[in-house]
Amino acid sequence: MTLHSAIASTTPTFDSLEQALKHYFGYDRFRPGQRHIVETALRGQDLLVIMPTGGGKSLCYQLPALLKPGLMVVVSPLIALMQDQVETLNDNGIPATFLNSSLSNEHVQQRTAQLLRGEIKLLYVAPERLLNDRFLPFLDRLHDALGLVAIAIDEAHCVSEWGHDFRPEYRQLSQIRQRYPTVPLLALTATATQRVQQDIVVQLALRQPDVYVASFNRPNLYYEVRPKERNAYADLLREIRSHRHGSCIVYCFSRKLVDETADRLQQDGIVALPYHAGLSDRVRTENQTRFIRDDVQVMVATVAFGMGIDKPDVRLVVHYNLPRNLEGYYQEAGRAGRDGEPSRCLLFFNTGDVSKINYLIDQKPDEAEQMIARQQLRQVLDYAEGLECRRTIQLRYFGEDFSGNCQQCDNCLNPKPIEDRTVDAQKFLSCVARCKERFGMNYIIEVLRGSRSSKIQQRGHHKLSTYGIGSDRSAEDWKHLGRSLLHQGLLDETSDGYSVLRLNARSWEVMRGQRPVQMVATRSQRSSVADDSQAASTRELLMDLLRSLRKTIANEQSVPPYVIFADSSLRLMVQSRPTTLEEFASISGVGSHKLTQYGPRFTETIRQFCQEHGLLAQTVTPVVDEPTSKPPLSARRRQILNLHQQGIAPAQIALECDLRLGTIYDNLATLLEWGEVIDVDQLVDPERQQAILGAIAQVGDDALRTIRDQVGEDYDFNEIRIMRSVWRMQQLS
Ligand code: ADP
Ligand code: ZN
Repeated sequence: MTLHSAIASTTPTFDSLEQALKHYFGYDRFRPGQRHIVETALRGQDLLVIMPTGGGKSLCYQLPALLKPGLMVVVSPLIALMQDQVETLNDNGIPATFLNSSLSNEHVQQRTAQLLRGEIKLLYVAPERLLNDRFLPFLDRLHDALGLVAIAIDEAHCVSEWGHDFRPEYRQLSQIRQRYPTVPLLALTATATQRVQQDIVVQLALRQPDVYVASFNRPNLYYEVRPKERNAYADLLREIRSHRHGSCIVYCFSRKLVDETADRLQQDGIVALPYHAGLSDRVRTENQTRFIRDDVQVMVATVAFGMGIDKPDVRLVVHYNLPRNLEGYYQEAGRAGRDGEPSRCLLFFNTGDVSKINYLIDQKPDEAEQMIARQQLRQVLDYAEGLECRRTIQLRYFGEDFSGNCQQCDNCLNPKPIEDRTVDAQKFLSCVARCKERFGMNYIIEVLRGSRSSKIQQRGHHKLSTYGIGSDRSAEDWKHLGRSLLHQGLLDETSDGYSVLRLNARSWEVMRGQRPVQMVATRSQRSSVADDSQAASTRELLMDLLRSLRKTIANEQSVPPYVIFADSSLRLMVQSRPTTLEEFASISGVGSHKLTQYGPRFTETIRQFCQEHGLLAQTVTPVVDEPTSKPPLSARRRQILNLHQQGIAPAQIALECDLRLGTIYDNLATLLEWGEVIDVDQLVDPERQQAILGAIAQVGDDALRTIRDQVGEDYDFNEIRIMRSVWRMQQLS
């Protein structure tokens, strides 16, 4: 085979594609798939190329452009990327150029002239320019004069609403096929879902395309999931320090967390910058440039960061918060090691993040959206809590059968200790059975742990044989077990948004004792005998915690942290660990204003910390003169009640307690029925109360849904829940 260079000024011929590859790009070998794709493109067939980030997609259209007469048009969504690619090509002596809005008129004219003279092989344009009324006639001229090798559409998933980055201007690209019916189209993307692939073919009107799906395995990446504990920051710092000479990206959930984390890293001597949508374009571009230039080692960012960068030598990508879906995680983590060198992807996992995401899902107005988001979250949990090879789990999500032991992930290298939980699983599953498979995880756990909640009493579930048989374990532990049963397929959950637990054939095998259940051992209790160094590190932890609380409050009020409390006050708090307002008042630096302003949040933080570290026997709350009919409150309920009575809004309480908003309202409603003082006007707009009460009077107080149907969509279940309790109390008096 003889291949001719198509660059006007040179006339080399090549004996093989490998030779051409070496000549233009300096590489000795094609990466998997590249050769096949280049050959197909040279034949002039339509192509859909799905290749993970770093797989080497660009070469798939660049090399054909150099071996065929005519011009290759490349549609690319981001100016920064275009510039980058063109620079790299020019650097290899390849005549490429771009046209976009960042250019002066003079430059545009210069480039169009070069194009018309046939001096350029690759032309990069943004979709909106390509379809522009003035540009299309120009492209017609190029087409007639030089011929178009093909039109390559990069980031082709942007055409699909099902992708993670839909761009309406991509939709219009279908015109291209009509205008140039004989020009081949090459669509390229790193997005793998079937749905998006189908969309690309349809939307771009590809003609019997050769679909090339590369393996999504990235062998050079090491994957690890680590429990996120109180001292996660120290962990993060250690990781970054151990990559002293490599670039790192740290992804956080929110702008606020990005800023805080970047701040803290800076204070610890790491050159880190933030990146999120709250920063101005100028600052964002500047920070990104400094990162790309290695002036800055660490970019702390929201997921807004990454799509526009091609940095090949990122050595560490940390997800400091739980990602919302697995595809997103794969793409973001995949920004590590594009150059094929060993790199790490680390995910910090805690259940607090799960509650936060659930909370956000609850806020979504659209039920279908909620359902999709819940399912995506479950897939992330499958990954984070799974015991299998992480790679296997990820690739299975993309429909790829890897099923192996990659020896390049934490689960393969350090299999977790396993314990037998058959008996607990039997308790759990029987409880699901006894409750007639009509409830969700939290309810089942309440029954197992013998909760006194009125809804359990009303349904008579306190008489079930499984009521209270799980009171020896924490709700958290039961949740862990329940989720693990779901992951292992020993239990099902409906995906209609209500997440009702259902038994399957395997559940019954477990209950009949035909199938043992094994799980990762939960962490053993910390030893209560604290040696000196442990005590010191505990103090450090608490100090960190208080410092970050102080910083949070300072940020809320836009003042420097020392305005809230001096370091010396924080140190005193660490020493004496006040958990009541009275104790807190005795700390030097706490005046009456600060006592009421900040006391509740600080004491609550300290109390929780003490509980988690076994530092204090649980504070005994004396029960004074409470009528005997009132059940004693659990610590959780008491906390919710206290926060509410301090005037804190339910949404804020939900965040502080790591519970769903609905749960907070639920608890407040129950507390109201138990005769506790609840500020109903704070919870339900006084103008809306009568309507709800009226509806209850008509349809009764049984089912929230019935009441809601009566009162109308405008009213939410939380309001209705509270008013139902008000109504019940009115009936008693
Ligand atoms: P993608 O667009 O798929 O994310 P790129 O086209 O940017 O990937 O390629 C990723 C990196 O791999 C680039 O640094 C590129 O130069 C390099 N690369 C591409 N093909 C080869 C090859 N055959 N051999 C060596 N390196 C390659
Ligand atoms: Zn593995």
